[in-house]
Amino acid sequence: MKLVVTGGAGYVGSVCARVLIEAGHQVTVVDNLSVGNRDAVPAEAEFVEGDISAVADDLLAGTEFDGVLHFAAKSLVGESVHHPELYWQGNVVESLALLEAIRVHQVPRLVFSSTAATYGEPDSVPIVESSPTRPTNAYGATKLAIDHAITSYTVAHDLAAVSLRYFNVAGAYAGAGENRPVETHLIPLVLQAALGHRDKVSIFGTDYPTDDGTAIRDYIHIYDLAQAHLLALAAATPGRHAIYNLGSGTGFSVRQVIDTCREVTDIDIPVVETSRRAGDPAVLIASSDKAIAELGWQPDKTELAGIVTDAWDYIRALGDRAHSARS
Ligand code: UDP
Repeated sequence: MKLVVTGGAGYVGSVCARVLIEAGHQVTVVDNLSVGNRDAVPAEAEFVEGDISAVADDLLAGTEFDGVLHFAAKSLVGESVHHPELYWQGNVVESLALLEAIRVHQVPRLVFSSTAATYGEPDSVPIVESSPTRPTNAYGATKLAIDHAITSYTVAHDLAAVSLRYFNVAGAYAGAGENRPVETHLIPLVLQAALGHRDKVSIFGTDYPTDDGTAIRDYIHIYDLAQAHLLALAAATPGRHAIYNLGSGTGFSVRQVIDTCREVTDIDIPVVETSRRAGDPAVLIASSDKAIAELGWQPDKTELAGIVTDAWDYIRALGDRAHSARS
């Protein structure tokens, strides 16, 4: 298929673009490079630099695309609490521009990066797709708003759409991994501390109602996540907006993640305990049963140590490259 990948210079978008190309698809990446890296865009992909609202209409008018995979987004929970305006503008307004270009130029398929943050603090875990959606931060609220917009477009305009609600994506694939200008995610931060690029890691909150007092998340390998996008693209059905959770189904606390990083790296990473981060729920664990049943998805790399090992190999190679570029 001929596909547009928005956000294809970012972590998730660039790995998915790579996996789509490996599966034989033709990919055009759209990215404004606000957080993405031009180097992360696969060499085989076309590249268009710019905001979606500036470039999508012309791009979709000029070529008959079979589908769009929409990853471009602002995605930092903490930032979204303090600067919601950036999220309503950057996520909702930009996504509405994309949906309009898709409608006007009759692109038949859309796969959207939604998130576990749409559910907020769950009544029970694992979280299924019919769980209440009560986001606790603007990031989740904007992703949920986009999901609602997509639903109404699929019904009215016969779009075939799938939203994939990611839990905590981590790991690396084929030399592509987490490399953001400002890092806020737990696993890369812990591994950067192991490398000595940071003094220590902060544990945000030790008073959660969990066994060790720290928040629990469900970590999913980036390669398994990318495979779900291939399946979603194939399964998308006109007039239907299907929503699937993607996680491993197992939760790990912040302390367990740090311990796993210590084991994998064999480095005694220094930590400090601090207060909770605004907008963070206590426990998020996915039920991915629907994706497994309907898409035939089979997550393969579900061991946390394996996810951390891939991230560690990537982050060390990145450190070596930065070092040889400087010397
Ligand atoms: N976290 C932490 N210290 C950090 C970064 C994150 O304790 O320096 C915690 C965070 O509060 C959350 C978990 O680690 O409970 C995962 O956070 P991350 O930002 O990686 O992903 P999120 O769950 O926000 O999507």
